[in-house]
Amino acid sequence: MALDDYKKKRNFEKTPEPEPKLGPKKKKGDELFFCVQKHLASHLHYDFRLEWNGVLLSWAVPKGPSIDPKDKRLAMQTEDHPYDYGMFEGVIPEGYGAGIVMLWDYGTWEPESEDVDAALRTGDLKFRLNGFKLKGSWVIVKTHGYGGAPNSWLLIKHKDDWAGPVNITEFAPLSVKTPDADFAEILQGKTPALWHSNAPAKGGDTGAMFKKIIERALSMSAGPKEKANTKDTKNTKANNQKASAAKKSSAVKSKKKSASKRAAKK
Ligand code: MN
Repeated sequence: MALDDYKKKRNFEKTPEPEPKLGPKKKKGDELFFCVQKHLASHLHYDFRLEWNGVLLSWAVPKGPSIDPKDKRLAMQTEDHPYDYGMFEGVIPEGYGAGIVMLWDYGTWEPESEDVDAALRTGDLKFRLNGFKLKGSWVIVKTHGYGGAPNSWLLIKHKDDWAGPVNITEFAPLSVKTPDADFAEILQGKTPALWHSNAPAKGGDTGAMFKKIIERALSMSAGPKEKANTKDTKNTKANNQKASAAKKSSAVKSKKKSASKRAAKK
């Protein structure tokens, strides 16, 4: 089963992560899920996941995705994750991946490569993302040993309307699941109850690591004072989001238009 590695690495008595279970069956043309989870573990990284054949294909991207086509981002393929993992946000108290998980982006994806399984085998998958933060055309391409590791890929944005010289991980660092939550807020439990039933480990190596993670989470947090001062930027952010939503709906409209044009031709 595709989720064997996932299962092997975890003790489900001790972790709040979802059980290894296959997701819904999909037909060609059905909407597929994607997400990016920002993961403050022993090292900060971003887990990029694409739904395929009932599981989430997964890559750990140390620097996170970039919407600048010049920035090719290293993406190390990791074990497939359960479909239900996709909306996970919260604290992994101990064991594999111990740390804080933030749902940084999610949405739908569609393949641009004709045969996804073949594209995955050759290591050159082209696709479109429709998330809150990441949109448009992308490619994930296997490096074939460049840099040494057999599981290393590069995640690259194609040039289109959704590309730009913006540092998206800095520009939009917060959760899309718990509005505007940072790691500290997720740690404090300002996130749905389901995923933070277990308190982080207090003693031993994990406890020591968690102390570091908590300190890092707090240092990354803007804090209440700064947050109060950013009200104006918040409004701008809300406006940006509106603008992006408007762009999105017009994109959907134009897509519909071209679809009806295509239908008219037939
Ligand atoms: Mn991770």
